[in-house]
Amino acid sequence: MLNILFPKYCPGCDHPLTTAKLLACVACRNALPLTRFHQTGDPTFVDKFYGRLPLVFGTALLHYHKKGLAQKLIHAFKYNGNKAIGCWLATWLGQELAALQIADQITAVVPVPLHPKKQRQRGYNQAAVIAHQIAKCLDVPVWERILLKTTHLKAQAKKNQWDRWSHAHTFVLNPKESIPPSHLLLVDDVVTTGATLEACGLLLTKTPGIQLSCASIAIA
Ligand SMILES: [Zn+2]
Repeated sequence: MLNILFPKYCPGCDHPLTTAKLLACVACRNALPLTRFHQTGDPTFVDKFYGRLPLVFGTALLHYHKKGLAQKLIHAFKYNGNKAIGCWLATWLGQELAALQIADQITAVVPVPLHPKKQRQRGYNQAAVIAHQIAKCLDVPVWERILLKTTHLKAQAKKNQWDRWSHAHTFVLNPKESIPPSHLLLVDDVVTTGATLEACGLLLTKTPGIQLSCASIAIA
């Protein structure tokens, strides 16, 4: 238990950490593949959603590569209970966002929801952890209840036979919540294909008067 709370090893390189306060070693911190999209005006994030989801602004803190540093840190955050590493990266991103002009326009931060069953297993929704840190930096609320994740059984075709059932995950707008006109910052941990942000973002922008921006810790 103590090892989970105070990891002794750097999640980036597995080298021992000198103090429990350190979340990643100095070498890994210095080697983090920062995108700097939001400092340089690089449109890569927004371009990824071109024709799929209208974004006012979008950015990620890190580049995500298979077996790369960002993947290792996010893996520790998502699957090894290392919540602190997620908080650290999210605060980093939040502070950078707070320095941008766009920050004044954001009304609320919305995390991509996690299915309640998965959240119970993991103990937290990683996107919500990120959302709370960013919201703190931007001094805006987190709207955690406006999107829900549901599961339904879906038949899956396999070699012309409908012989398998799988759980299909879908997002819905919470019918119990109403969304006032606002500029929402939708956040997730990693953007790979962009399908998750697209699905959530399309639901949010269905509501009249909603403007949408997105941010994630990493982008592939
Ligand atoms: Zn390291």
